[in-house]
Amino acid sequence: MPASTAPQSSYDVAIIGAGVVGCAIARRLTLDGARVVVLEKALDVLDGASKGNSAILHTGFDAPPGSLEQACIAAGYGEYLQIAKALGLPVLRTGAMVLAWTPEQEEQLPALIEKAHLNGVEDVAPLTRAQILEREPHLSPQVRAGFEIPGEYLIDPWASAHAYILQALANGAELFRGTEVLAGVYEDGWRLKTTGGPVAAAHVVNCAGLYGDLVDDRLLGEKSFTIRPRKGQFLVFDKAASDLVSTTILPVPTKTTKGVVVCRTVFGNVLVGPTAEDQESRTDASTDREALERLRRKGIEMLPELSDCEVTTAYAGLRPACEKQDYQIAHHSARSYVTVGAIRSTGLSSALGIARHVAGLLQLSRDALADPAIPLVDRLSDYHPRDWQEKDNGGIVCHCELVTRREIERVLSGPMPPATLQGLKRRTRAMMGRCQGFYCTAEIAEITGDRLQVPIGHDDA
Ligand SMILES: Cc1cc2nc3c(=O)[nH]c(=O)nc-3n(C[C@H](O)[C@H](O)[C@H](O)COP(=O)(O)OP(=O)(O)OC[C@H]3O[C@@H](n4cnc5c(N)ncnc54)[C@H](O)[C@@H]3O)c2cc1C
Repeated sequence: MPASTAPQSSYDVAIIGAGVVGCAIARRLTLDGARVVVLEKALDVLDGASKGNSAILHTGFDAPPGSLEQACIAAGYGEYLQIAKALGLPVLRTGAMVLAWTPEQEEQLPALIEKAHLNGVEDVAPLTRAQILEREPHLSPQVRAGFEIPGEYLIDPWASAHAYILQALANGAELFRGTEVLAGVYEDGWRLKTTGGPVAAAHVVNCAGLYGDLVDDRLLGEKSFTIRPRKGQFLVFDKAASDLVSTTILPVPTKTTKGVVVCRTVFGNVLVGPTAEDQESRTDASTDREALERLRRKGIEMLPELSDCEVTTAYAGLRPACEKQDYQIAHHSARSYVTVGAIRSTGLSSALGIARHVAGLLQLSRDALADPAIPLVDRLSDYHPRDWQEKDNGGIVCHCELVTRREIERVLSGPMPPATLQGLKRRTRAMMGRCQGFYCTAEIAEITGDRLQVPIGHDDA
C-alpha cells in the first residue's frame, strides 16, 4: 500500500478523509466498480473524530423521524449486522435501556417510545422500576422507570473502519496517508492539489469530518455550514466493573446531547461518558480532571458499586457538530462533488448507510464487482475467540489485553501497516489495558523496530 509516493493516475472518485465515513464510502464505491483514491492528511487512518467514541451500534430509535440521519443509521445498522461475520467484526448484543431518574424525565418516556416506533424500531417497550432492577440489580434504586431497546449492539470502533478500507484496498482502491488536500480546480473533472502531488478524479467526495466546512470552502469557494467541535470525555473502568452491568444504560436525551451513558465495551471494560462540551479547537481532545470527576460521580450515582472499581484510563473524542440539526450531505452535481459533513454523534452506526446514500447520489453506473475479495481483520473482542488461544501465536506480548506477537506482526506486515503507535494500538489493543504499556512497551518497541513512521517515544500518545 503506497503511503507516501504521489498518486499518479486519474480516478473515478477521490475521497477526502479516512475517518469511518470516508472508509465506508471507499468500500461501497469500490464494490460498485469505481476506481477510488482516498486522501488522508494524517499519517494514519481514523485520526479525527473517528478516533474516540462510545462504540455503540445504534438502532436510530431516538433520531429525528424522517431525517437523513435516521435513514442512514437504519441502513447502516442493517448492513453492519449483515457483513460483520464475513469481515470478522465483533458484535455484542447487549441491548440498551433509557432510564428516567427524575419525574420530569419520566414524563418524557412515552413520547420517546412513540418516536422509536415511528423510526421503525418496533421492539422498544416500557419497563417498570421493578423490571429494570431485576435485570440490572447493581443499579441505584433511585431509578424510576424506563424502556428497553433490545437491538442496540456494542462494536469495535476501529476494526469496522479498518475492515471497510481494507476491503476497498483489496479490491483496487488506493489510499494515500500524510496527504492533505490543499486546493482544487474543476474543469470537466477535478485536479486536486495535495501535499503528496496532484490528483485527478472525475468526482470528489468530501468526508473531512472536523474540517468538512473548510474543505468545502477550499474546493467550492463556499460553505453551507460551520463545524462547531463538541468534545466528549470518557472514563474507562477496569474489566472487573463489567460484572456490574450487562445492558447499555442511556439517560433521557436532551436537545444537544444523548447524555452520559454507562456501557460495556467489546474489550471487556465499562465506559462512563461522554461529556458534551462545545469548543473552538478542532484538535484539542484533551481530558480534564474536573470533567472526569463529574463523570465518575455521575457513574456512581447510577451504578453505586463503581466507587470500588479502578479507572484504567480516560480519553476524549470530538464530534463534528454544526449549527444545523441533520447531517449535511449535498450533491453539487454541476461540479461532480459531494459534501458529507457534520456526521456528529452517530457516524459509526450510519457510515455504511451514508455510503449507500452517496453512491445513490453519484450514480456512477459501473459494473459492481462480481466476486469481491473479503479480507478479515483480527477480532479483538473479549467476548469472542482470540489469537492467544490459538497455537503458534509467538507468545503474549501485552498481558493486559492478551495481544500476541503474531497479531502485532500481522498488522505490521499487512496491507495497511500502522504509521504511529496510536495506529498500532487501534489495530491490536496493545498497551491499552490496565498497565497502559508499563510492562510491554520495550518489547513492542523491539518488535516494531523502525517499521513505524513515528518511532515509539516520539509518538503523539
Ligand atoms: C464522544 C463521541 C461519542 C460517539 N459515540 C458514537 C457511538 O456510540 N455510535 C456512533 O455511531 N457514533 C458515535 N460517535 C460519532 C462518530 O464517531 C462520528 O460520527 C464519526 O467518527 C465521524 O467520522 P467522519 O469520517 O465523518 O470524520 P473523521 O473521523 O473526523 O474523519 C475525517 C478525516 O478527514 C481528514 N481530513 C481533514 N481535512 C483533510 C484534508 N484537507 N485533506 C485530507 N484529509 C483531511 C482528517 O484527518 C480525518 O481523518 C461519537 C463521536 C464522539 C466524538
